[in-house]
Amino acid sequence: MKINTLRARLALWIAALLLLALAIFGVYVYSSMARGLYTAVDNDLALNGSQVIAGLNIDNGKLILPDSLVEPPETAGSYTNSVIRIISPDGRILLTSSSNSLPLPNNALPLTSSFITWTDPTSKQVMRIYSAPVTDNNRLLAVVQVARSLQNERETLQRLLATLFLGIPILVIFAAMGGYFLAARALAPIDTIIRTARRISAEDLSARLNLPPGDDEVGRLAATFDDMLARLDDSFRRERQFTDDASHELRTPLAAMQAILSVIRSRRRTPQEYELALDDLNEESTRLSALTEDLLLLARGKRLTAPHAEPVDLSELLPDLAESLRPIADAKSLTLETHIPAGLTLLADSDSLIRLFVNLLDNAIKFTEHGGVTLNARNEGQMIIIDVADTGPGIIAENLPNIFNRFYRADASRTYPGSGLGLAIAQEIARAHNGDIKVRSIIGKGSTFTVRIPLSQKKSG
Ligand code: ADP
Repeated sequence: MKINTLRARLALWIAALLLLALAIFGVYVYSSMARGLYTAVDNDLALNGSQVIAGLNIDNGKLILPDSLVEPPETAGSYTNSVIRIISPDGRILLTSSSNSLPLPNNALPLTSSFITWTDPTSKQVMRIYSAPVTDNNRLLAVVQVARSLQNERETLQRLLATLFLGIPILVIFAAMGGYFLAARALAPIDTIIRTARRISAEDLSARLNLPPGDDEVGRLAATFDDMLARLDDSFRRERQFTDDASHELRTPLAAMQAILSVIRSRRRTPQEYELALDDLNEESTRLSALTEDLLLLARGKRLTAPHAEPVDLSELLPDLAESLRPIADAKSLTLETHIPAGLTLLADSDSLIRLFVNLLDNAIKFTEHGGVTLNARNEGQMIIIDVADTGPGIIAENLPNIFNRFYRADASRTYPGSGLGLAIAQEIARAHNGDIKVRSIIGKGSTFTVRIPLSQKKSG
């Protein structure tokens, strides 16, 4: 049994507390038993004394001694443990009860009624002696003494003491053992948790405790542990997926650039051909740098959660953004309308907000072939709500839960340029501002992305 285990410590605590409780109980039992026994002896002695005195005859101020003194009936028999004697005021023993071998002191006697406990120096017998004066008209005629050996009482008390001294340790040992086994049973799942935790590594988070559900603390700990593992597993899986997808996405423009270079270097080219190739390379490298920037932004997700907040006037910023994207809409013959009231100012990080709305407007224009895009903004209580609505193809219901995931692109959208990071970034920016983005979509009619951002930012993290 190792002392540093919880179960051993619990067992020791149980043992210590029980020992203390039983010790207090033992002291109480012993002392009240002793008090009870000795009081009974004193009562007996006093009763015997008064009976003896009542039986004495006094004639003309003179004590007439009886022929003999008889011990009280409860002590009669082969063994007697009490003695009665009558002593004259000058200390002479006038009469002693018969047939006893009990020792008594023969020195100074109290002349008033009193109890004393006296130990015979030779036999070590302990005697309880009651003395009662016999008087006539305030004149002391004699002293009656009734004495009793305390042997029986002392033996009884000693047996009790032995029982306590033997019984208490046995009880304490049983309780400690019981406590140890109960604690071991209750804490057994902890060992399973320890073993499972040792098995877990970042590469394999599939281990689970799967303990039978319990409503106690250990059961809840095990359930919480499994939940935590599931969440970690999920987040590690998503991180791995992100890294895989990121490298895949980065490879595409790099492969295109390598292809352009090897084609162009396969033989001598005209200056026009070199110029075209450089244009292609430029386009790919622009894609590559946009992609790396997006990846960096997502990887730095943490920093986004504490955006640099400054007053941003959306009534000015949103129409400006729409204007800068108007040439792309015009090129596709799409309308681009804005309905933005004056005075929509909030505390936010303006660079992040620009990025968020560019991503939404860019998607709306990109996926829409007929009709147009509308940008609406309004103030509702402590929130600013901005709708980006298009008359594009819409998003099928089963894709809706995924479009905010990193690298997610619906199959139908793969003919359009993009990396699938735009909405993930937009959502992250909205959340960093304590807001969010929701989408409603009707197939064939269009989609509306609704951004909700609180006016002021509570300090977080
Ligand atoms: P990307 O635009 O680079 O493909 P996003 O993260 O911006 O990536 O969008 C993810 C996917 O959501 C898109 O591939 C597309 O399938 C869908 N989507 C986003 N915006 C719209 C929209 N306005 N209309 C239809 N589908 C959209």
